[in-house]
Amino acid sequence: MNTLAASSPERSEQDVLTALQATVSASRLSLFLQCRLKFYFRYVLKLKKPKTASLHLGNAVHAVLKAWNKARWVQQPLSLKVVHETYQTAWADNTEGSVAWEPGEEEADKTTGWRLLDTYLRESHLPAAIKPDAVEVPVEADLQQHGLPRLIGILDLVQQRQIIDYKTSATTPNADKVSHTTEIQTCSYAILYRHNTGAQEAGMQLHHLVKLKNPKVVITTLPPMSPGQETRLFRQMEAYLEGLQRRDFIPSPGMHCSSCEFFNECRLWS
Ligand code: SF4
Repeated sequence: MNTLAASSPERSEQDVLTALQATVSASRLSLFLQCRLKFYFRYVLKLKKPKTASLHLGNAVHAVLKAWNKARWVQQPLSLKVVHETYQTAWADNTEGSVAWEPGEEEADKTTGWRLLDTYLRESHLPAAIKPDAVEVPVEADLQQHGLPRLIGILDLVQQRQIIDYKTSATTPNADKVSHTTEIQTCSYAILYRHNTGAQEAGMQLHHLVKLKNPKVVITTLPPMSPGQETRLFRQMEAYLEGLQRRDFIPSPGMHCSSCEFFNECRLWS
């Protein structure tokens, strides 16, 4: 136990830990494996931090793609004008907190987000005429038979049995690296898909909308989850469970610390 943990009410912290042991998502699992102390700050202590500009842009783009795909699902595609209005509304939404913008930064980021969407939709990566199998569907998988927590998640889009996930990114992704760095997420989605459909996914696609001066879209196509990848994910989930049971929340300093919102709190840990 670290000293910051000792300052929290023990009972409520135990309740939080019990809930975290019962249910896990890909993002929680990934964060726990990246840095257990950061996980502790975010999910156990629930320390609030200002929303970042990058998160705000990503959320607004994601909200528009969700609306666009839902319209395709009901076979009533949105015009570019309606897409733009949806983006304006999404950008103005501060329900998850507001960003401390630098002068001129908000307009620049807002333009960047719109140019990403415009590029993606104009390039017709997903033709409006093809109806999705599912859009933004919350799903879960009971993994009790494996001695593991219930897995939960939301699938951005499933189309022709392909699981599609959207990402905004500042740099062009490398296909080999991104298949490795997103493995926890893609394999979690594959398990969720299989549990909820009884079928194997045809594969997965990562649609990166890249925030360059000239925005571009990079689509990485991945094969279905292999048995070896499923085993790796289950072993990672076991490590998550064991770590929570031991209350193992040590820091893991590394390159990822440069973007950690809990840097100051981390320096106080002992
Ligand atoms: S600064 Fe680094 S080591 Fe500390 S909590 Fe954040 S990610 Fe973990």
